[in-house]
Amino acid sequence: MIREIPPRSGTAFVLGKGEILRVIDPEGGQVSDLIACRQGDPCEMLSNGRTFDYEETIRLTAGNRLWSNRSHPLLEIIEDSVGTHDFLLTPCSEATFRHFYADKPVHRGCFGNLAAALAPFGVEPDAIPVAFNIFMNVPVDAQGRIRVEKPGTVAGDHIRLRALDDLVIGLTACSAYDSCGGSFKPIHYAIEDRIP
Ligand SMILES: [Zn+2]
Repeated sequence: MIREIPPRSGTAFVLGKGEILRVIDPEGGQVSDLIACRQGDPCEMLSNGRTFDYEETIRLTAGNRLWSNRSHPLLEIIEDSVGTHDFLLTPCSEATFRHFYADKPVHRGCFGNLAAALAPFGVEPDAIPVAFNIFMNVPVDAQGRIRVEKPGTVAGDHIRLRALDDLVIGLTACSAYDSCGGSFKPIHYAIEDRIP
């Protein structure tokens, strides 16, 4: 069953060990921030630093795993029609809206949406780490400078991630102007049957 995350919102749900999360960009050009923590022990969280360390790359795609702060792999990317995702930048928030978009209305952003969605699972706002920003296009140049560019996705692009443990997932349809090329669209996702 395909579920929809409306534009500029977020959700959270349990993803059992072996189940596969499919995240789809239904229209193209939209970013989705993903957070994962261990079910029942939300202090064990997705960690970009651990992931870069063990995977030896910042360009994560099929075959790579996403690791926790306690050095356990939480998710494995098993399929990826895009190959461009960001794991450097924090979820957009009220503060980032004030910083980058002073002439536009402030929004609670992915951070606020994740904090609200994850609260019932015991995740404190201060524990929310750098998200795995699915479809986000953040090129790094030879001098180390970063830019946020429009996602290169087309309608139907997707990624599939297999849970390597019982997890709680937070997932958004990003609210930031630059991340999504200035427009806001929904994100679709589905939980597929577990595989061994
Ligand atoms: Zn966002």
